[in-house]
Amino acid sequence: MHPALALWQASNGCLEVGGQSLLRLADRIGQTPFFAYDRRLLDERVAQLRRSLPGAVQLHYAIKANPMPAVVQHLKPQVDGFDVASASEMKTALDAGMNAANIAFAGPGKSDAELAQAVAAGILVEIESEGELRRLTVIAERSGYPARVAVRINPDFVLKGSGMRMGGGPQQFGVDAERVPQLLGQISAAGLGFEGFHIFAGSQNLRAEIICEAQRRTVELALDLAEQSHYPLSYLNIGGGFGIPYFPKDEPLDLAQIGENLGSLMEKLAGRQPQAAVVVELGRYIVGEAGIYVSRVIDRKESRGEIFLVTDGGLHHQLAASGNFGQVLRRNYPLAIGNKFGAAPTETASVVGCLCTPLDLLGDRCELPPAEVGDLVVVFQSGAYGLTASPTAFLSHPAPIEVLV
Ligand SMILES: *Cc1c(COP(=O)(O)O)cnc(C)c1O
Repeated sequence: MHPALALWQASNGCLEVGGQSLLRLADRIGQTPFFAYDRRLLDERVAQLRRSLPGAVQLHYAIKANPMPAVVQHLKPQVDGFDVASASEMKTALDAGMNAANIAFAGPGKSDAELAQAVAAGILVEIESEGELRRLTVIAERSGYPARVAVRINPDFVLKGSGMRMGGGPQQFGVDAERVPQLLGQISAAGLGFEGFHIFAGSQNLRAEIICEAQRRTVELALDLAEQSHYPLSYLNIGGGFGIPYFPKDEPLDLAQIGENLGSLMEKLAGRQPQAAVVVELGRYIVGEAGIYVSRVIDRKESRGEIFLVTDGGLHHQLAASGNFGQVLRRNYPLAIGNKFGAAPTETASVVGCLCTPLDLLGDRCELPPAEVGDLVVVFQSGAYGLTASPTAFLSHPAPIEVLV
């Protein structure tokens, strides 16, 4: 069995979400397709992180992984801060009641309007370039509000084995490490409030030893830059990139190893930058496994010996499951017939969506119990980068509903 499925319960052959049968939940929602997120799984995941990581490490949730307001509000009392990547995510974070002191804004291409809103809100702006710093300086002066800044560093190392690399080499993200000392001088000359560094090397990594190595090098780099330039750090965001298992051979991440490594890094930091708050920022790892995407079989057809289950969902809602969101090789997300959960997989069928493109494939030749029109197809690992990372306008179907159960 795929490790993702072991997180879920079933009763009378039907998957349960938040202790409720999926069939009844579908009736309550009144339509398919929908995304359902399970509170219990969110809580368990945060608790597991708290058990495994040193107590002094602050846990941030990166809202872009799943910005549903109910999810963000549910996570608010459980995490130490939010990372936002747009003015709209900033609003979601503030609406959820997170203190501006614990919100950080990263991302290339922050507009003047977004920078002005961030300064007015009092959130931390993570500077991605010299040009952005110049714009922020003018905006802060004009407003009269004190700007809080950190510098996002493009490190001089690469995180191997990462689904999406976002650091090392030439990058649109962050300021090249070798140019940071000069930038710190400009921040100081402009009279902006410098708090520290942010380094995010990449996303979706399942190899603990590589994440540990990246964290060691991140801390080294931050300490060197801070000491060279005599700017004490009150904030050090060391990124995250913790991955979840999507495909058959993926093994869940070894959190204990990361926790141990962070323990020794925290000791090192306590000796050299004792006032630095150390932040780990996670999106996918917190929400990814807590969500499913549910669509209904509306046609079952055979074509030249192969079975196709045609659903009312598709890549316009769950692009990543179709293999078109950054994957090099298309592989199936874990998938099940939710109302025939645990039944013997006695047939091979492909699950497709309702869009007029061969790209709209949710499951390629899956082993499934025989499914009929009306059955509910569940795509697991859909809690992160699902709805908001999909081209919902493509083919002009109505948007799916999201529920937190
Ligand atoms: C996207 C992003 C994250 C979240 O990444 P996950 O892989 O979802 O954990 C964290 N930090 C930054 C800067 C990001 O851009």
